[in-house]
Amino acid sequence: MDAHLSTLARLKDRLGPHGWTEDPDLIAPHLIEWRDRWSGHAPILLMPSTTEEAQAIIGLCHEAGVAVTTQGGNTGLVGAQIPLGEVLISTKRLNLIRAIDPVDDALVAEAGVVLTQVQDAARQIGKRFPLSLASEGSATIGGLISTNAGGVHVRRHGMMRAQILGLEAVLANGSLYEGLSALRKDNTGYDLKHLFIGAEGTLGLVTAATLKLVAQPRHTTVALLALDTPEQAVALLHRLEEETAAVAAFEVMNHLGVSLAVKNIPNVRIPFGTIPAWMALVEFEGPNADLVDQVEQALASALEAGLAQDAVVAQNETQSKSFWYLREEMSACQKPEGVAAKHDVSVPVSKIPVFLRQADAEADRVAPGARVVAFGHCSDGNIHYDVIQPQDMSGDAYMALVPQMNEAIHDVAMSFNGSISAEHGIGISRRDEFLRREPPAHLALMRAIKASFDPKNIMNPRVLL
Ligand SMILES: Cc1cc2nc3c(=O)[nH]c(=O)nc-3n(C[C@H](O)[C@H](O)[C@H](O)COP(=O)(O)OP(=O)(O)OC[C@H]3O[C@@H](n4cnc5c(N)ncnc54)[C@H](O)[C@@H]3O)c2cc1C
Repeated sequence: MDAHLSTLARLKDRLGPHGWTEDPDLIAPHLIEWRDRWSGHAPILLMPSTTEEAQAIIGLCHEAGVAVTTQGGNTGLVGAQIPLGEVLISTKRLNLIRAIDPVDDALVAEAGVVLTQVQDAARQIGKRFPLSLASEGSATIGGLISTNAGGVHVRRHGMMRAQILGLEAVLANGSLYEGLSALRKDNTGYDLKHLFIGAEGTLGLVTAATLKLVAQPRHTTVALLALDTPEQAVALLHRLEEETAAVAAFEVMNHLGVSLAVKNIPNVRIPFGTIPAWMALVEFEGPNADLVDQVEQALASALEAGLAQDAVVAQNETQSKSFWYLREEMSACQKPEGVAAKHDVSVPVSKIPVFLRQADAEADRVAPGARVVAFGHCSDGNIHYDVIQPQDMSGDAYMALVPQMNEAIHDVAMSFNGSISAEHGIGISRRDEFLRREPPAHLALMRAIKASFDPKNIMNPRVLL
């Protein structure tokens, strides 16, 4: 038996019949991402169901020098979870909520637990886990940690990093980082958990985490606003924050994004007669029963001040959901339109309008007639700036322009001290650009950290560095 086959045999033996598969039909869904942007291959899919099993199989891979790719819900947007020949480890059987404590405001979830399960478990004890994003029905705690996911509540609650009290991770040699603390204060040396957060699986396999819970908001309400310009959006955000101190999410969508959602997604409707140049979706939350009155007053004064053209407050839960549905379909609505160059940039909030103006000019320079869908998390400066192929250009011709488009849009973001990856990570899709743009001293530190955690480079070796 050659060395590789004998390693596979040992891995199977360690996990037992329910812990692995080589059936191509069962592995297939793990080898493509939902937009069909990346596809891969793997000799085997391993599914450990305990931390000890994860330790054993990673230890065996380390011994044999076999590379692994870790996958959670396969919703990542930068290709990092798709194997190219590595052993694929799915966390789907690490799916227990181990503990929940309403006094410590802490919940311990295993890596494969899906975000909505955590939200539901918190709600059942009258608490809340406030991370929220459109993929929450599939994205797992391990994936959310490894990408340091953001979502719609970042301004108020922070990114995933801010919501982790402790974590447990299997290191490349199979040993365990045991950091499942629920402490809110702990200044004993380097806080190593942070290295795993946003590491995209390159430093170890996260098996569980202690998540920070917050109080359930007593009252929430959602409004949709029609705007003429992004300048209005930024001014409106500050006005509503000042007047209500209750803004929990502030999302924007441009005219084309809303038009494509109405055209391409069933049951999308907007509450305005015509599709405005921009729309803002604002979610408010607070402890007081008069929240809706307070919000309506703030919106009326914003309209009077010319910060918006129209506003509708959701009258019930169904209408709130329909407002969010529109926002959440901003990515999917682009799919029928052809190739899109997607950008997950951030700039200081004050620079969003000028970023958008300059990026629009650059998009048109690189591919005249290119169609821009701009949307996202205005309240933290994170704009998803997607440039769809011009209608009179073939997908192949546009595909050839995508690297140039990426460069141009990222140059604009960087000119405002922005980021080329605000919340999705680097993965394989942004790797070359990241390595070119990141200061050499930062890269040297990251490589030193990687080498000390994973000297044989077996953990997600094609990702990030
Ligand atoms: C419709 C849609 C909307 C989205 N909206 C947002 C958004 O608003 N904000 C945002 O930040 N992201 C968003 N995303 C991106 C995505 O949901 C996140 O990246 C998510 O955190 C990935 O979780 P996952 O379980 O699917 O991980 P996967 O996609 O399986 O993996 C992602 C990365 O994490 C690594 N990984 C997974 N589990 C582990 C583990 N246990 N230990 C170590 N490494 C691991 C993988 O190797 C890979 O590098 C969206 C995605 C979709 C499809």
